Amino acid sequence: MPRNYRHWVRSNLLREEPSPILSESVLQRIWFEQLVRHPLLTLAGEKITLHQPGVWNHRAGPDFLRASFSTSDGRTYSGDVELHRHSSDWSAHAHSENPAYRNVLLHVFWQADPSLSDPSPPHIRSIAIEHQLSAPLTELISLFRSPPAQILTGEKPGHCHSLLVSLPPEKLRTILEEAGWHRLRLRRSLAQARCHTHGFEQAAWVALAEGLGFSENREPFASLARAVPIERLLQLSDPVDREAVLYGVSRLLPDPTRTPVTARALPYLKDLWKRWWFHRELWSAHILPPGCWKVGATRPNNSPYRRVGALSCLTYPLVWQSWIESVRRGDADVFLKVLRSLSHPFWDHHASWDGRILPSSSRLIGLDRASALLFQVLGPMAECSEANLGQQMETWPAAGDAGLLRSASMRLLGTSFPPADVRSQLAREGLLQIYKDFCRAKPCRECSMPEFLQQK
Ligand code: SF4
Repeated sequence: MPRNYRHWVRSNLLREEPSPILSESVLQRIWFEQLVRHPLLTLAGEKITLHQPGVWNHRAGPDFLRASFSTSDGRTYSGDVELHRHSSDWSAHAHSENPAYRNVLLHVFWQADPSLSDPSPPHIRSIAIEHQLSAPLTELISLFRSPPAQILTGEKPGHCHSLLVSLPPEKLRTILEEAGWHRLRLRRSLAQARCHTHGFEQAAWVALAEGLGFSENREPFASLARAVPIERLLQLSDPVDREAVLYGVSRLLPDPTRTPVTARALPYLKDLWKRWWFHRELWSAHILPPGCWKVGATRPNNSPYRRVGALSCLTYPLVWQSWIESVRRGDADVFLKVLRSLSHPFWDHHASWDGRILPSSSRLIGLDRASALLFQVLGPMAECSEANLGQQMETWPAAGDAGLLRSASMRLLGTSFPPADVRSQLAREGLLQIYKDFCRAKPCRECSMPEFLQQK
Protein backbone atom coordinates (compact mmCIF):
# COMPACT_ATOMS: atom_id res chain seq x y z
CA MET A 1 0.00 0.00 0.00
CA PRO A 2 1.48 3.41 -0.92
CA ARG A 3 2.42 5.40 2.12
CA ASN A 4 2.02 9.14 2.45
CA TYR A 5 5.00 11.47 2.37
CA ARG A 6 4.95 12.25 6.09
CA HIS A 7 4.96 8.60 6.99
CA TRP A 8 7.73 7.96 4.51
CA VAL A 9 9.93 10.69 5.88
CA ARG A 10 9.36 9.61 9.48
CA SER A 11 10.07 5.96 8.91
CA ASN A 12 13.02 6.35 6.55
CA LEU A 13 14.81 9.66 6.30
CA LEU A 14 14.43 10.74 9.89
CA ARG A 15 15.16 7.36 11.37
CA GLU A 16 18.64 7.57 9.89
CA GLU A 17 19.51 10.60 12.00
CA PRO A 18 21.62 9.64 15.04
CA SER A 19 19.70 11.10 18.00
CA PRO A 20 20.47 14.76 17.22
CA ILE A 21 18.07 15.78 19.98
CA LEU A 22 20.84 15.40 22.47
CA SER A 23 22.78 18.36 21.18
CA GLU A 24 22.32 21.67 22.95
CA SER A 25 21.60 23.48 19.69
CA VAL A 26 18.59 21.22 19.07
CA LEU A 27 17.37 21.74 22.60
CA GLN A 28 17.66 25.47 22.05
CA ARG A 29 15.62 25.22 18.87
CA ILE A 30 12.92 23.23 20.60
CA TRP A 31 12.77 25.83 23.34
CA PHE A 32 12.75 28.71 20.88
CA GLU A 33 9.84 27.16 18.99
CA GLN A 34 8.07 26.30 22.29
CA LEU A 35 7.59 22.73 21.13
CA VAL A 36 7.04 21.53 24.65
CA ARG A 37 3.93 20.49 26.50
CA HIS A 38 1.85 23.00 28.39
CA PRO A 39 1.97 23.10 31.31
CA LEU A 40 5.53 21.92 31.86
CA LEU A 41 6.35 19.86 34.89
CA THR A 42 9.41 20.80 36.94
CA LEU A 43 11.57 18.24 38.74
CA ALA A 44 9.85 19.31 41.96
CA GLY A 45 6.44 18.43 40.45
CA GLU A 46 5.30 22.04 39.95
CA LYS A 47 3.31 22.95 36.83
CA ILE A 48 4.39 26.03 34.91
CA THR A 49 2.96 27.65 31.79
CA LEU A 50 5.46 29.13 29.40
CA HIS A 51 4.36 32.42 27.82
CA GLN A 52 7.56 33.58 26.12
CA PRO A 53 10.66 31.45 25.57
CA GLY A 54 12.81 34.60 25.76
CA VAL A 55 15.15 36.18 23.24
CA TRP A 56 17.74 33.75 21.94
CA ASN A 57 21.10 34.96 23.15
CA HIS A 58 23.97 34.07 20.84
CA ARG A 59 26.57 35.76 23.01
CA ALA A 60 28.06 34.96 26.40
CA GLY A 61 25.56 34.30 29.20
CA PRO A 62 22.28 32.39 29.46
CA ASP A 63 20.79 30.89 26.30
CA PHE A 64 17.52 32.84 26.45
CA LEU A 65 16.91 36.23 28.03
CA ARG A 66 13.70 37.62 29.51
CA ALA A 67 11.49 34.55 29.20
CA SER A 68 8.14 34.68 30.96
CA PHE A 69 6.09 31.95 32.58
CA SER A 70 3.44 31.55 35.24
CA THR A 71 2.88 29.06 37.99
CA SER A 72 -0.42 27.40 38.88
CA ASP A 73 -1.04 29.95 41.67
CA GLY A 74 -1.30 32.63 38.94
CA ARG A 75 2.05 34.31 39.60
CA THR A 76 3.99 35.43 36.54
CA TYR A 77 7.79 35.44 36.41
CA SER A 78 10.25 36.94 33.99
CA GLY A 79 13.88 35.86 33.82
CA ASP A 80 16.57 34.05 31.84
CA VAL A 81 16.74 30.43 30.79
CA GLU A 82 19.78 28.16 30.54
CA LEU A 83 19.64 24.90 28.57
CA HIS A 84 21.88 21.89 28.87
CA ARG A 85 22.00 18.29 27.81
CA HIS A 86 22.30 17.04 31.37
CA SER A 87 21.19 18.49 34.68
CA SER A 88 24.75 18.22 36.00
CA ASP A 89 26.02 20.63 33.32
CA TRP A 90 24.95 23.54 35.53
CA SER A 91 27.61 22.65 38.08
CA ALA A 92 30.10 21.48 35.46
CA HIS A 93 29.97 24.93 33.83
CA ALA A 94 30.17 26.72 37.22
CA HIS A 95 27.18 28.92 36.39
CA SER A 96 26.42 29.61 40.04
CA GLU A 97 29.68 31.55 40.32
CA ASN A 98 29.07 33.61 37.18
CA PRO A 99 27.11 36.86 37.73
CA ALA A 100 25.84 36.72 34.12
CA TYR A 101 23.57 33.86 35.24
CA ARG A 102 22.05 35.53 38.29
CA ASN A 103 18.75 36.23 36.49
CA VAL A 104 18.27 32.63 35.43
CA LEU A 105 14.91 31.32 36.64
CA LEU A 106 14.61 28.17 34.55
CA HIS A 107 17.23 25.46 34.05
CA VAL A 108 16.06 23.25 31.22
CA PHE A 109 17.82 20.04 30.19
CA TRP A 110 17.16 16.96 28.19
CA GLN A 111 17.65 14.47 30.98
CA ALA A 112 18.18 14.60 34.73
CA ASP A 113 21.29 12.71 35.79
CA PRO A 114 19.85 9.79 37.76
CA SER A 115 22.69 9.60 40.27
CA LEU A 116 22.70 13.30 41.17
CA SER A 117 20.31 15.43 43.14
CA ASP A 118 19.16 18.62 41.39
CA PRO A 119 22.30 20.81 41.18
CA SER A 120 20.49 24.06 40.27
CA PRO A 121 20.23 26.72 43.00
CA PRO A 122 16.91 26.57 44.92
CA HIS A 123 15.39 29.69 43.30
CA ILE A 124 15.81 28.13 39.84
CA ARG A 125 13.16 25.74 38.58
CA SER A 126 14.59 22.65 36.88
CA ILE A 127 12.84 21.00 33.97
CA ALA A 128 13.77 17.79 32.15
CA ILE A 129 12.09 17.90 28.74
CA GLU A 130 12.88 14.41 27.47
CA HIS A 131 9.27 13.30 28.08
CA GLN A 132 7.62 16.69 27.68
CA LEU A 133 7.90 17.36 23.95
CA SER A 134 4.81 18.41 22.05
CA ALA A 135 5.80 16.52 18.90
CA PRO A 136 7.56 13.23 18.19
CA LEU A 137 11.30 13.42 18.36
CA THR A 138 11.75 12.49 14.72
CA GLU A 139 9.47 15.32 13.59
CA LEU A 140 11.45 17.83 15.56
CA ILE A 141 14.38 17.16 13.27
CA SER A 142 12.62 19.49 10.83
CA LEU A 143 13.75 22.27 13.14
CA PHE A 144 17.22 21.85 11.73
CA ARG A 145 15.85 23.48 8.65
CA SER A 146 14.43 26.54 10.42
CA PRO A 147 14.85 29.71 8.40
CA PRO A 148 18.37 30.89 9.30
CA ALA A 149 17.33 34.53 9.70
CA GLN A 150 14.99 33.65 12.56
CA ILE A 151 17.65 31.60 14.24
CA LEU A 152 20.27 34.30 13.78
CA THR A 153 18.14 37.11 15.10
CA GLY A 154 16.80 35.05 18.01
CA GLU A 155 13.30 36.30 17.14
CA LYS A 156 10.23 35.18 15.23
CA PRO A 157 7.66 37.40 13.49
CA GLY A 158 5.18 38.66 16.10
CA HIS A 159 1.41 39.03 15.90
CA CYS A 160 1.41 42.49 14.38
CA HIS A 161 4.02 41.97 11.69
CA SER A 162 1.50 41.20 8.96
CA LEU A 163 -0.50 44.31 9.89
CA LEU A 164 2.62 46.45 9.78
CA VAL A 165 3.91 45.18 6.46
CA SER A 166 0.48 45.49 4.84
CA LEU A 167 0.40 49.23 5.56
CA PRO A 168 1.24 51.59 2.68
CA PRO A 169 5.00 52.35 2.90
CA GLU A 170 4.49 56.02 3.74
CA LYS A 171 2.13 55.11 6.60
CA LEU A 172 4.55 52.54 7.98
CA ARG A 173 7.34 55.08 7.78
CA THR A 174 5.19 57.69 9.57
CA ILE A 175 4.43 55.27 12.42
CA LEU A 176 8.07 54.28 12.81
CA GLU A 177 9.30 57.86 12.65
CA GLU A 178 6.71 58.93 15.25
CA ALA A 179 8.16 56.24 17.50
CA GLY A 180 11.66 57.49 16.59
CA TRP A 181 10.72 61.01 17.69
CA HIS A 182 9.31 59.60 20.89
CA ARG A 183 12.65 57.89 21.52
CA LEU A 184 14.58 61.06 20.80
CA ARG A 185 12.33 63.19 23.04
CA LEU A 186 12.79 60.72 25.90
CA ARG A 187 16.53 61.06 25.46
CA ARG A 188 16.31 64.85 25.27
CA SER A 189 14.36 64.92 28.56
CA LEU A 190 16.98 62.74 30.21
CA ALA A 191 19.78 64.89 28.79
CA GLN A 192 18.09 68.04 30.08
CA ALA A 193 17.76 66.57 33.56
CA ARG A 194 21.39 65.48 33.52
CA CYS A 195 22.56 68.90 32.30
CA HIS A 196 20.54 70.54 35.04
CA THR A 197 22.13 68.32 37.70
CA HIS A 198 25.68 67.82 36.44
CA GLY A 199 26.27 70.50 33.82
CA PHE A 200 26.42 70.20 30.05
CA GLU A 201 29.94 68.81 29.69
CA GLN A 202 29.56 66.09 32.31
CA ALA A 203 26.17 65.09 30.86
CA ALA A 204 27.78 64.74 27.42
CA TRP A 205 30.72 62.80 28.90
CA VAL A 206 28.35 60.28 30.51
CA ALA A 207 26.21 59.95 27.37
CA LEU A 208 29.31 59.39 25.24
CA ALA A 209 30.66 56.75 27.62
CA GLU A 210 27.29 54.94 27.62
CA GLY A 211 27.25 54.93 23.83
CA LEU A 212 30.78 53.55 23.65
CA GLY A 213 29.79 50.70 25.96
CA PHE A 214 27.21 49.30 23.48
CA SER A 215 24.45 47.35 25.20
CA GLU A 216 26.93 44.95 26.88
CA ASN A 217 28.98 47.48 28.81
CA ARG A 218 26.69 50.47 28.91
CA GLU A 219 26.40 50.53 32.70
CA PRO A 220 30.08 50.12 33.61
CA PHE A 221 30.97 52.83 31.10
CA ALA A 222 28.38 55.17 32.59
CA SER A 223 29.72 54.35 36.06
CA LEU A 224 33.25 55.08 34.91
CA ALA A 225 32.24 58.45 33.46
CA ARG A 226 30.50 59.33 36.73
CA ALA A 227 33.42 58.13 38.85
CA VAL A 228 35.92 60.13 36.77
CA PRO A 229 34.16 63.39 35.85
CA ILE A 230 35.51 65.11 32.79
CA GLU A 231 36.18 68.31 34.72
CA ARG A 232 38.54 66.54 37.15
CA LEU A 233 40.18 64.59 34.39
CA LEU A 234 40.95 67.73 32.39
CA GLN A 235 42.75 69.14 35.42
CA LEU A 236 45.48 66.53 34.90
CA SER A 237 47.86 68.08 32.42
CA ASP A 238 49.65 64.89 31.34
CA PRO A 239 47.60 62.74 28.89
CA VAL A 240 49.17 59.50 30.19
CA ASP A 241 48.10 60.40 33.74
CA ARG A 242 44.54 60.88 32.50
CA GLU A 243 44.74 57.52 30.79
CA ALA A 244 46.16 55.84 33.92
CA VAL A 245 43.29 57.20 36.04
CA LEU A 246 40.65 56.01 33.57
CA TYR A 247 42.13 52.51 33.34
CA GLY A 248 42.85 52.34 37.07
CA VAL A 249 39.37 53.40 38.17
CA SER A 250 37.80 51.09 35.60
CA ARG A 251 39.78 48.10 36.93
CA LEU A 252 40.82 47.36 33.37
CA LEU A 253 44.48 47.89 34.25
CA PRO A 254 46.19 44.61 35.20
CA ASP A 255 49.29 44.28 37.36
CA PRO A 256 52.15 43.90 34.83
CA THR A 257 54.07 41.63 37.20
CA ARG A 258 51.22 39.11 37.30
CA THR A 259 49.73 39.38 33.83
CA PRO A 260 51.23 37.68 30.79
CA VAL A 261 51.83 40.42 28.23
CA THR A 262 54.06 40.58 25.19
CA ALA A 263 57.21 42.69 25.02
CA ARG A 264 55.30 45.14 22.84
CA ALA A 265 52.69 45.87 25.53
CA LEU A 266 54.88 45.68 28.60
CA PRO A 267 56.55 49.16 28.63
CA TYR A 268 53.20 50.87 28.07
CA LEU A 269 51.45 48.83 30.75
CA LYS A 270 54.28 49.37 33.24
CA ASP A 271 54.18 53.13 32.70
CA LEU A 272 50.41 53.27 33.23
CA TRP A 273 50.65 51.04 36.30
CA LYS A 274 53.38 53.23 37.87
CA ARG A 275 51.34 56.37 37.29
CA TRP A 276 48.17 54.72 38.57
CA TRP A 277 49.89 53.88 41.84
CA PHE A 278 50.78 57.54 42.20
CA HIS A 279 47.13 58.61 41.74
CA ARG A 280 45.44 55.58 43.24
CA GLU A 281 44.85 56.81 46.77
CA LEU A 282 43.03 59.90 45.60
CA TRP A 283 40.68 57.84 43.44
CA SER A 284 40.38 54.70 45.54
CA ALA A 285 36.81 55.39 46.68
CA HIS A 286 35.70 55.52 43.04
CA ILE A 287 37.20 52.29 41.69
CA LEU A 288 34.53 50.20 39.96
CA PRO A 289 33.54 46.89 41.56
CA PRO A 290 35.16 43.71 40.27
CA GLY A 291 33.44 41.70 37.55
CA CYS A 292 31.38 44.52 36.09
CA TRP A 293 32.79 44.33 32.54
CA LYS A 294 31.67 41.91 29.87
CA VAL A 295 34.95 41.52 28.08
CA GLY A 296 34.30 38.34 26.10
CA ALA A 297 30.90 39.47 24.83
CA THR A 298 32.21 41.99 22.31
CA ARG A 299 34.15 41.78 19.08
CA PRO A 300 37.87 42.56 19.58
CA ASN A 301 37.55 45.94 17.86
CA ASN A 302 34.84 46.96 20.32
CA SER A 303 36.58 45.70 23.45
CA PRO A 304 36.17 47.90 26.53
CA TYR A 305 39.97 48.26 26.67
CA ARG A 306 39.94 50.01 23.30
CA ARG A 307 36.88 52.08 24.16
CA VAL A 308 38.50 53.38 27.35
CA GLY A 309 41.50 54.24 25.17
CA ALA A 310 39.13 56.20 22.92
CA LEU A 311 37.69 58.07 25.91
CA SER A 312 41.18 59.01 27.04
CA CYS A 313 42.09 60.30 23.57
CA LEU A 314 39.11 62.63 23.71
CA THR A 315 40.46 64.31 26.86
CA TYR A 316 43.15 66.32 25.08
CA PRO A 317 41.85 69.82 25.88
CA LEU A 318 41.67 71.05 22.29
CA VAL A 319 40.04 67.83 21.09
CA TRP A 320 37.53 67.95 23.93
CA GLN A 321 36.68 71.60 23.26
CA SER A 322 36.12 70.97 19.59
CA TRP A 323 33.94 67.93 20.26
CA ILE A 324 31.84 69.41 23.06
CA GLU A 325 31.15 72.52 20.99
CA SER A 326 30.00 70.32 18.11
CA VAL A 327 27.52 68.67 20.50
CA ARG A 328 26.28 72.03 21.76
CA ARG A 329 25.83 73.44 18.26
CA GLY A 330 24.44 70.21 16.82
CA ASP A 331 27.23 70.13 14.25
CA ALA A 332 27.20 66.51 13.03
CA ASP A 333 30.15 66.97 10.63
CA VAL A 334 32.61 68.14 13.31
CA PHE A 335 31.19 65.60 15.79
CA LEU A 336 31.93 62.72 13.42
CA LYS A 337 35.27 64.14 12.32
CA VAL A 338 36.59 64.44 15.87
CA LEU A 339 35.43 60.97 16.92
CA ARG A 340 36.77 59.30 13.80
CA SER A 341 40.15 60.99 14.06
CA LEU A 342 40.90 59.65 17.57
CA SER A 343 44.08 57.63 17.45
CA HIS A 344 46.29 55.89 19.99
CA PRO A 345 49.75 54.36 19.41
CA PHE A 346 48.85 51.11 21.21
CA TRP A 347 45.07 50.73 20.94
CA ASP A 348 44.93 51.40 17.20
CA HIS A 349 46.50 47.96 16.82
CA HIS A 350 45.47 46.01 19.91
CA ALA A 351 42.27 44.78 21.53
CA SER A 352 43.62 43.87 24.97
CA TRP A 353 46.73 43.84 27.13
CA ASP A 354 47.89 40.45 25.91
CA GLY A 355 49.69 42.33 23.16
CA ARG A 356 48.14 40.36 20.32
CA ILE A 357 47.92 42.55 17.27
CA LEU A 358 44.60 43.10 15.50
CA PRO A 359 44.51 41.61 11.97
CA SER A 360 44.44 45.17 10.66
CA SER A 361 44.73 48.48 12.45
CA SER A 362 41.33 50.01 12.99
CA ARG A 363 39.95 53.34 14.12
CA LEU A 364 39.19 53.58 17.82
CA ILE A 365 35.69 54.72 16.86
CA GLY A 366 34.56 53.61 13.42
CA LEU A 367 31.97 55.34 11.25
CA ASP A 368 29.13 53.06 12.35
CA ARG A 369 29.65 53.68 16.09
CA ALA A 370 30.32 57.39 15.58
CA SER A 371 27.08 57.66 13.56
CA ALA A 372 25.15 55.79 16.26
CA LEU A 373 26.48 58.32 18.77
CA LEU A 374 24.82 61.09 16.76
CA PHE A 375 21.45 59.78 17.91
CA GLN A 376 22.65 58.89 21.40
CA VAL A 377 24.58 62.05 22.25
CA LEU A 378 24.27 64.87 19.74
CA GLY A 379 20.53 64.52 19.04
CA PRO A 380 19.53 64.52 22.73
CA MET A 381 21.94 67.28 23.75
CA ALA A 382 22.17 69.73 20.84
CA GLU A 383 20.94 73.20 21.77
CA CYS A 384 18.77 73.60 18.70
CA SER A 385 15.09 73.35 17.87
CA GLU A 386 13.42 70.05 17.01
CA ALA A 387 12.61 71.38 13.55
CA ASN A 388 16.29 72.11 12.94
CA LEU A 389 17.29 68.74 14.36
CA GLY A 390 14.70 66.95 12.20
CA GLN A 391 16.15 68.55 9.06
CA GLN A 392 19.68 67.59 10.04
CA MET A 393 18.75 64.00 10.83
CA GLU A 394 17.71 63.48 7.21
CA THR A 395 21.41 63.65 6.34
CA TRP A 396 22.76 61.46 9.15
CA PRO A 397 24.17 58.11 8.11
CA ALA A 398 22.03 55.19 9.29
CA ALA A 399 23.71 53.29 12.11
CA GLY A 400 23.08 51.54 15.39
CA ASP A 401 23.17 48.17 17.09
CA ALA A 402 22.88 45.90 14.04
CA GLY A 403 22.07 42.79 16.12
CA LEU A 404 19.26 44.49 18.00
CA LEU A 405 17.91 46.04 14.82
CA ARG A 406 17.81 42.63 13.14
CA SER A 407 15.87 41.20 16.10
CA ALA A 408 13.40 44.10 16.10
CA SER A 409 12.98 43.90 12.36
CA MET A 410 12.34 40.15 12.44
CA ARG A 411 9.77 40.49 15.21
CA LEU A 412 7.90 43.50 13.81
CA LEU A 413 8.41 43.26 10.06
CA GLY A 414 9.12 39.56 9.56
CA THR A 415 12.46 40.20 7.90
CA SER A 416 15.93 40.52 9.32
CA PHE A 417 16.48 43.96 7.79
CA PRO A 418 13.99 46.83 7.46
CA PRO A 419 12.72 47.40 3.91
CA ALA A 420 14.40 50.18 1.92
CA ASP A 421 11.64 52.76 2.41
CA VAL A 422 11.85 52.65 6.20
CA ARG A 423 15.60 52.82 6.57
CA SER A 424 15.92 56.42 7.72
CA GLN A 425 17.77 56.74 11.02
CA LEU A 426 14.59 58.00 12.69
CA ALA A 427 12.55 55.02 11.40
CA ARG A 428 15.21 52.57 12.59
CA GLU A 429 15.22 54.16 16.01
CA GLY A 430 11.41 53.98 16.01
CA LEU A 431 11.55 50.27 15.25
CA LEU A 432 13.88 49.78 18.21
CA GLN A 433 11.61 51.84 20.46
CA ILE A 434 8.49 49.80 19.58
CA TYR A 435 10.50 46.63 20.14
CA LYS A 436 11.58 47.91 23.56
CA ASP A 437 8.19 49.33 24.61
CA PHE A 438 6.04 46.42 23.43
CA CYS A 439 7.87 43.31 22.29
CA ARG A 440 10.22 43.14 25.24
CA ALA A 441 7.57 44.09 27.74
CA LYS A 442 4.76 41.62 27.11
CA PRO A 443 3.89 38.54 25.08
CA CYS A 444 2.07 39.24 21.81
CA ARG A 445 -1.26 37.98 23.15
CA GLU A 446 -1.28 40.71 25.83
CA CYS A 447 -0.05 43.46 23.53
CA SER A 448 -2.17 46.44 22.46
CA MET A 449 -0.12 47.22 19.35
CA PRO A 450 -2.33 45.23 16.91
CA GLU A 451 -5.35 47.18 18.17
CA PHE A 452 -3.47 50.45 17.69
CA LEU A 453 -2.53 49.47 14.16
CA GLN A 454 -6.07 48.46 13.23
CA GLN A 455 -7.16 52.01 14.01
CA LYS A 456 -4.63 53.42 11.58
S1 SF4 B 1 4.70 42.18 21.22
FE1 SF4 B 1 3.19 43.56 20.35
S2 SF4 B 1 4.39 44.94 19.05
FE2 SF4 B 1 5.65 43.16 19.43
S3 SF4 B 1 5.26 41.77 17.71
FE3 SF4 B 1 3.88 41.16 19.38
S4 SF4 B 1 2.00 42.28 18.95
FE4 SF4 B 1 3.61 43.28 17.76
